[in-house]
Amino acid sequence: MKIVALAGGVGGAKLAHGLAQVLPPEDLTVIVNTGDDFEHYGLYICPDLDTVCYTLAGLANPDTGWGRVDETWTVIENASLLGGPDWFRLGDKDLGTHLERTRRLKEGDSLSNITRDFCIAWGIKLTVLPMSDQPVRTMVETDEGELAFQEYFVNRRCEPKVKGFRFDNVDKAKPAPGAKEAIQTADAIVICPSNPWVSIDPILKVISLTPNPLPPGDVRRDKGIPIVAVSPIVGGQAVKGPAAKMYSELGIEPSAFAVAKHYAGLGNGFILDQIDSQLTKSVRGLNMQICVTNTLMKSHDDRKLLASDILDFIGEVV
Ligand code: GDP
Repeated sequence: MKIVALAGGVGGAKLAHGLAQVLPPEDLTVIVNTGDDFEHYGLYICPDLDTVCYTLAGLANPDTGWGRVDETWTVIENASLLGGPDWFRLGDKDLGTHLERTRRLKEGDSLSNITRDFCIAWGIKLTVLPMSDQPVRTMVETDEGELAFQEYFVNRRCEPKVKGFRFDNVDKAKPAPGAKEAIQTADAIVICPSNPWVSIDPILKVISLTPNPLPPGDVRRDKGIPIVAVSPIVGGQAVKGPAAKMYSELGIEPSAFAVAKHYAGLGNGFILDQIDSQLTKSVRGLNMQICVTNTLMKSHDDRKLLASDILDFIGEVV
Protein backbone atom coordinates (compact mmCIF):
# COMPACT_ATOMS: atom_id res chain seq x y z
CA MET A 1 0.00 0.00 0.00
CA LYS A 2 1.57 3.28 -1.10
CA ILE A 3 1.26 6.02 1.50
CA VAL A 4 2.06 9.72 1.41
CA ALA A 5 2.36 11.23 4.88
CA LEU A 6 2.20 14.98 5.46
CA ALA A 7 4.28 16.03 8.44
CA GLY A 8 5.44 18.97 10.50
CA GLY A 9 8.08 18.48 13.18
CA VAL A 10 7.80 16.47 16.37
CA GLY A 11 4.27 14.96 16.04
CA GLY A 12 4.73 14.32 12.34
CA ALA A 13 8.18 12.81 12.80
CA LYS A 14 6.96 10.30 15.38
CA LEU A 15 4.18 8.98 13.15
CA ALA A 16 6.45 8.98 10.08
CA HIS A 17 8.82 6.79 12.10
CA GLY A 18 5.93 4.47 13.02
CA LEU A 19 4.85 4.21 9.37
CA ALA A 20 8.44 3.47 8.39
CA GLN A 21 8.33 0.44 10.68
CA VAL A 22 5.25 -1.08 9.04
CA LEU A 23 5.73 -0.16 5.36
CA PRO A 24 8.49 -1.05 2.90
CA PRO A 25 10.55 2.10 2.19
CA GLU A 26 9.48 2.27 -1.46
CA ASP A 27 5.84 2.56 -0.32
CA LEU A 28 6.30 5.58 1.95
CA THR A 29 6.86 9.22 1.00
CA VAL A 30 6.88 11.89 3.70
CA ILE A 31 6.23 15.46 2.55
CA VAL A 32 7.47 17.90 5.18
CA ASN A 33 6.53 21.47 6.02
CA THR A 34 9.19 24.06 5.22
CA GLY A 35 7.10 27.11 6.18
CA ASP A 36 9.05 27.47 9.42
CA ASP A 37 12.47 27.44 7.70
CA PHE A 38 14.56 30.51 8.37
CA GLU A 39 18.05 31.94 8.17
CA HIS A 40 20.11 32.37 11.30
CA TYR A 41 23.85 33.09 11.58
CA GLY A 42 23.79 33.06 7.76
CA LEU A 43 22.69 29.42 7.80
CA TYR A 44 19.61 27.96 6.17
CA ILE A 45 17.71 26.05 8.86
CA CYS A 46 14.83 23.64 8.19
CA PRO A 47 13.53 22.69 11.66
CA ASP A 48 10.74 20.32 10.58
CA LEU A 49 12.74 18.61 7.83
CA ASP A 50 15.62 18.03 10.25
CA THR A 51 13.32 16.75 13.01
CA VAL A 52 11.74 14.26 10.60
CA CYS A 53 15.11 13.09 9.22
CA TYR A 54 16.83 12.86 12.61
CA THR A 55 13.85 10.87 13.96
CA LEU A 56 13.77 8.48 10.98
CA ALA A 57 17.55 7.99 11.23
CA GLY A 58 17.44 7.33 14.99
CA LEU A 59 19.54 10.46 15.58
CA ALA A 60 16.90 12.60 17.34
CA ASN A 61 17.11 13.67 20.95
CA PRO A 62 14.48 11.45 22.63
CA ASP A 63 13.82 13.99 25.42
CA THR A 64 13.04 17.04 23.30
CA GLY A 65 11.89 15.31 20.09
CA TRP A 66 13.96 17.86 18.13
CA GLY A 67 17.71 18.27 17.72
CA ARG A 68 20.32 15.54 17.94
CA VAL A 69 20.91 12.90 20.58
CA ASP A 70 24.19 13.26 22.54
CA GLU A 71 24.45 16.87 21.40
CA THR A 72 27.03 19.41 22.60
CA TRP A 73 26.69 23.18 22.48
CA THR A 74 30.25 24.52 22.23
CA VAL A 75 29.74 26.68 19.13
CA ILE A 76 26.54 28.44 20.19
CA GLU A 77 27.88 29.04 23.72
CA ASN A 78 31.02 30.63 22.33
CA ALA A 79 29.07 32.70 19.81
CA SER A 80 26.83 33.83 22.66
CA LEU A 81 29.87 34.86 24.74
CA LEU A 82 30.79 37.16 21.87
CA GLY A 83 27.33 38.71 21.92
CA GLY A 84 25.67 36.48 19.29
CA PRO A 85 21.99 35.51 19.64
CA ASP A 86 21.35 32.27 21.50
CA TRP A 87 17.55 32.17 21.57
CA PHE A 88 17.56 29.51 18.85
CA ARG A 89 19.70 26.67 20.21
CA LEU A 90 21.95 25.21 17.53
CA GLY A 91 23.87 22.15 18.68
CA ASP A 92 27.30 21.29 17.33
CA LYS A 93 26.21 18.17 15.43
CA ASP A 94 23.11 19.93 14.15
CA LEU A 95 25.28 22.81 12.90
CA GLY A 96 27.04 20.37 10.56
CA THR A 97 23.68 19.80 8.84
CA HIS A 98 23.01 23.52 8.44
CA LEU A 99 26.54 24.29 7.25
CA GLU A 100 26.51 21.65 4.54
CA ARG A 101 22.95 22.43 3.44
CA THR A 102 23.74 26.16 3.22
CA ARG A 103 26.96 25.49 1.28
CA ARG A 104 25.09 23.43 -1.31
CA LEU A 105 22.15 25.83 -1.58
CA LYS A 106 24.63 28.67 -2.21
CA GLU A 107 26.12 26.60 -5.04
CA GLY A 108 22.65 26.47 -6.59
CA ASP A 109 21.56 23.00 -5.53
CA SER A 110 17.92 22.39 -4.58
CA LEU A 111 16.60 21.63 -1.11
CA SER A 112 15.02 18.39 -2.35
CA ASN A 113 18.33 17.15 -3.85
CA ILE A 114 20.18 18.02 -0.68
CA THR A 115 17.54 16.31 1.47
CA ARG A 116 17.76 13.16 -0.69
CA ASP A 117 21.56 13.04 -0.28
CA PHE A 118 21.37 13.68 3.46
CA CYS A 119 18.85 10.83 3.77
CA ILE A 120 21.23 8.49 1.94
CA ALA A 121 24.06 9.54 4.26
CA TRP A 122 21.86 8.94 7.32
CA GLY A 123 20.65 5.56 6.06
CA ILE A 124 17.02 6.66 5.53
CA LYS A 125 15.59 4.49 2.77
CA LEU A 126 12.10 5.96 2.35
CA THR A 127 11.53 9.20 0.45
CA VAL A 128 11.52 12.45 2.41
CA LEU A 129 10.57 15.56 0.44
CA PRO A 130 10.47 19.19 1.49
CA MET A 131 7.04 20.51 0.44
CA SER A 132 8.79 22.86 -2.01
CA ASP A 133 12.22 23.88 -3.23
CA GLN A 134 11.10 27.51 -3.14
CA PRO A 135 11.04 29.26 0.22
CA VAL A 136 7.62 29.74 1.85
CA ARG A 137 7.56 31.69 5.09
CA THR A 138 4.88 31.25 7.74
CA MET A 139 4.06 34.60 9.30
CA VAL A 140 2.04 34.77 12.50
CA GLU A 141 -0.35 37.69 12.86
CA THR A 142 -0.47 38.55 16.55
CA ASP A 143 -1.74 41.25 18.88
CA GLU A 144 1.85 42.57 18.80
CA GLY A 145 2.01 42.69 15.02
CA GLU A 146 3.17 40.18 12.44
CA LEU A 147 6.02 37.90 13.52
CA ALA A 148 8.15 35.47 11.51
CA PHE A 149 7.34 31.95 12.71
CA GLN A 150 10.54 31.19 14.67
CA GLU A 151 10.44 34.64 16.22
CA TYR A 152 6.94 33.84 17.51
CA PHE A 153 7.57 30.17 18.32
CA VAL A 154 11.03 30.13 19.86
CA ASN A 155 12.07 33.68 20.71
CA ARG A 156 8.66 34.82 21.99
CA ARG A 157 7.71 31.34 23.30
CA CYS A 158 4.27 31.59 21.60
CA GLU A 159 3.27 34.32 24.09
CA PRO A 160 1.74 36.89 21.71
CA LYS A 161 -1.95 36.26 20.97
CA VAL A 162 -2.53 34.77 17.54
CA LYS A 163 -4.93 36.51 15.15
CA GLY A 164 -4.15 34.62 11.94
CA PHE A 165 -1.49 33.24 9.64
CA ARG A 166 0.01 34.20 6.30
CA PHE A 167 2.24 32.04 4.15
CA ASP A 168 4.62 34.30 2.31
CA ASN A 169 5.38 33.21 -1.28
CA VAL A 170 2.95 30.27 -1.09
CA ASP A 171 1.35 31.16 -4.43
CA LYS A 172 4.69 31.05 -6.24
CA ALA A 173 6.09 27.94 -4.57
CA LYS A 174 5.84 24.75 -6.60
CA PRO A 175 5.58 21.32 -4.98
CA ALA A 176 9.01 19.68 -4.71
CA PRO A 177 9.88 17.35 -7.60
CA GLY A 178 8.20 14.00 -6.97
CA ALA A 179 5.55 15.31 -4.55
CA LYS A 180 2.66 15.46 -7.04
CA GLU A 181 3.63 12.11 -8.55
CA ALA A 182 3.75 10.51 -5.09
CA ILE A 183 0.24 11.83 -4.37
CA GLN A 184 -1.12 10.71 -7.71
CA THR A 185 0.11 7.17 -7.23
CA ALA A 186 -0.68 6.92 -3.50
CA ASP A 187 -3.30 4.54 -2.17
CA ALA A 188 -3.86 6.88 0.78
CA ILE A 189 -2.69 10.10 2.34
CA VAL A 190 -2.02 10.33 6.06
CA ILE A 191 -2.13 13.74 7.71
CA CYS A 192 0.15 13.30 10.72
CA PRO A 193 -0.71 14.71 14.18
CA SER A 194 1.07 17.98 13.44
CA ASN A 195 -0.12 21.52 14.04
CA PRO A 196 -2.96 22.02 11.51
CA TRP A 197 -2.44 25.80 11.28
CA VAL A 198 1.30 26.09 10.87
CA SER A 199 2.58 22.63 9.92
CA ILE A 200 -0.11 21.06 7.70
CA ASP A 201 -1.91 24.05 6.12
CA PRO A 202 1.25 25.30 4.36
CA ILE A 203 1.81 21.84 2.83
CA LEU A 204 -1.83 21.55 1.71
CA LYS A 205 -1.60 24.99 0.09
CA VAL A 206 1.65 24.28 -1.74
CA ILE A 207 0.63 20.89 -3.06
CA SER A 208 -2.94 22.16 -3.79
CA LEU A 209 -4.40 19.10 -2.19
CA THR A 210 -8.08 18.83 -2.94
CA PRO A 211 -10.43 15.99 -2.03
CA ASN A 212 -9.72 14.48 -5.44
CA PRO A 213 -6.05 14.96 -6.29
CA LEU A 214 -5.98 12.23 -8.93
CA PRO A 215 -5.78 13.22 -12.61
CA PRO A 216 -8.83 12.89 -14.89
CA GLY A 217 -9.03 9.37 -16.31
CA ASP A 218 -7.59 7.70 -13.22
CA VAL A 219 -10.06 5.02 -12.21
CA ARG A 220 -9.69 5.93 -8.54
CA ARG A 221 -10.64 9.53 -9.18
CA ASP A 222 -14.38 9.05 -8.79
CA LYS A 223 -13.95 7.03 -5.65
CA GLY A 224 -11.31 9.32 -4.20
CA ILE A 225 -8.47 7.95 -2.14
CA PRO A 226 -8.60 7.78 1.63
CA ILE A 227 -7.19 10.87 3.29
CA VAL A 228 -6.96 10.20 7.01
CA ALA A 229 -5.91 12.66 9.67
CA VAL A 230 -4.64 12.09 13.20
CA SER A 231 -5.56 14.69 15.79
CA PRO A 232 -2.68 16.53 17.50
CA ILE A 233 -5.21 17.67 20.11
CA VAL A 234 -6.02 14.99 22.63
CA GLY A 235 -8.45 15.54 25.49
CA GLY A 236 -8.82 19.19 24.50
CA GLN A 237 -5.08 19.85 24.84
CA ALA A 238 -2.09 19.82 22.54
CA VAL A 239 0.31 17.02 23.37
CA LYS A 240 3.04 19.62 22.85
CA GLY A 241 3.28 23.15 21.49
CA PRO A 242 0.78 25.91 20.82
CA ALA A 243 -1.92 24.18 18.70
CA ALA A 244 -4.62 24.34 21.42
CA LYS A 245 -3.65 27.90 22.38
CA MET A 246 -3.94 28.91 18.73
CA TYR A 247 -7.45 27.44 18.44
CA SER A 248 -8.56 29.28 21.61
CA GLU A 249 -7.08 32.60 20.51
CA LEU A 250 -8.81 32.24 17.14
CA GLY A 251 -12.11 31.81 19.01
CA ILE A 252 -12.45 28.05 18.45
CA GLU A 253 -12.71 25.64 21.36
CA PRO A 254 -9.67 23.37 21.10
CA SER A 255 -10.66 19.75 20.61
CA ALA A 256 -10.18 16.83 18.28
CA PHE A 257 -13.55 17.87 16.80
CA ALA A 258 -12.11 21.31 15.92
CA VAL A 259 -9.21 19.54 14.16
CA ALA A 260 -11.63 17.28 12.28
CA LYS A 261 -13.59 20.36 11.21
CA HIS A 262 -10.34 21.92 10.01
CA TYR A 263 -9.90 19.00 7.59
CA ALA A 264 -13.59 18.41 6.78
CA GLY A 265 -14.16 18.28 3.02
CA LEU A 266 -10.59 17.11 2.49
CA GLY A 267 -10.18 14.16 4.81
CA ASN A 268 -12.58 11.23 4.74
CA GLY A 269 -11.10 9.42 7.72
CA PHE A 270 -10.19 10.64 11.19
CA ILE A 271 -8.21 8.99 13.97
CA LEU A 272 -9.57 9.90 17.39
CA ASP A 273 -7.69 9.19 20.56
CA GLN A 274 -9.48 6.77 22.86
CA ILE A 275 -9.92 9.47 25.50
CA ASP A 276 -11.93 11.46 22.91
CA SER A 277 -14.20 8.57 21.93
CA GLN A 278 -17.25 10.59 22.98
CA LEU A 279 -16.61 12.81 19.93
CA THR A 280 -17.18 9.93 17.51
CA LYS A 281 -20.74 10.91 16.64
CA SER A 282 -20.01 14.60 16.07
CA VAL A 283 -16.97 13.85 13.87
CA ARG A 284 -19.05 11.35 11.88
CA GLY A 285 -21.46 14.24 11.32
CA LEU A 286 -18.65 15.90 9.33
CA ASN A 287 -18.83 13.01 6.87
CA MET A 288 -15.71 11.31 8.15
CA GLN A 289 -15.20 7.71 9.11
CA ILE A 290 -13.65 7.20 12.51
CA CYS A 291 -10.98 5.01 14.02
CA VAL A 292 -10.66 5.22 17.82
CA THR A 293 -7.29 4.17 19.19
CA ASN A 294 -4.36 5.28 21.31
CA THR A 295 -2.67 8.16 19.51
CA LEU A 296 -0.19 9.11 22.23
CA MET A 297 3.20 8.02 20.92
CA LYS A 298 5.21 7.75 24.11
CA SER A 299 7.34 4.82 22.94
CA HIS A 300 8.61 3.39 19.67
CA ASP A 301 6.02 0.62 20.04
CA ASP A 302 3.23 3.23 20.33
CA ARG A 303 4.38 4.75 17.03
CA LYS A 304 4.34 1.39 15.29
CA LEU A 305 0.97 0.36 16.76
CA LEU A 306 -0.64 3.64 15.72
CA ALA A 307 0.81 3.27 12.22
CA SER A 308 -0.56 -0.25 11.84
CA ASP A 309 -3.98 0.83 13.18
CA ILE A 310 -3.97 3.56 10.54
CA LEU A 311 -3.14 1.10 7.74
CA ASP A 312 -5.94 -1.24 8.90
CA PHE A 313 -8.34 1.72 9.04
CA ILE A 314 -7.35 2.89 5.54
CA GLY A 315 -8.47 -0.51 4.25
CA GLU A 316 -11.94 0.23 5.66
CA VAL A 317 -12.29 3.85 4.50
CA VAL A 318 -14.39 4.17 1.36
P1 GDP B 1 6.52 21.09 15.54
O1 GDP B 1 6.81 21.78 14.24
O2 GDP B 1 7.71 20.46 16.17
O3 GDP B 1 5.65 21.84 16.47
O4 GDP B 1 5.76 19.79 15.09
P2 GDP B 1 4.36 19.29 14.63
O5 GDP B 1 3.48 20.33 14.08
O6 GDP B 1 4.57 18.03 13.84
O7 GDP B 1 3.88 18.75 16.01
C1 GDP B 1 3.23 19.51 16.96
C2 GDP B 1 1.91 18.86 17.24
O8 GDP B 1 2.10 17.45 17.42
C3 GDP B 1 1.34 19.39 18.50
O9 GDP B 1 0.10 19.97 18.21
C4 GDP B 1 1.21 18.15 19.39
O10 GDP B 1 0.01 18.18 20.13
C5 GDP B 1 1.22 16.99 18.43
N1 GDP B 1 1.81 15.78 18.99
C6 GDP B 1 3.07 15.62 19.45
N2 GDP B 1 3.23 14.35 19.90
C7 GDP B 1 2.04 13.70 19.71
C8 GDP B 1 1.57 12.38 19.97
O11 GDP B 1 2.30 11.51 20.48
N3 GDP B 1 0.26 12.09 19.64
C9 GDP B 1 -0.56 13.03 19.07
N4 GDP B 1 -1.82 12.67 18.78
N5 GDP B 1 -0.14 14.28 18.82
C10 GDP B 1 1.13 14.61 19.14
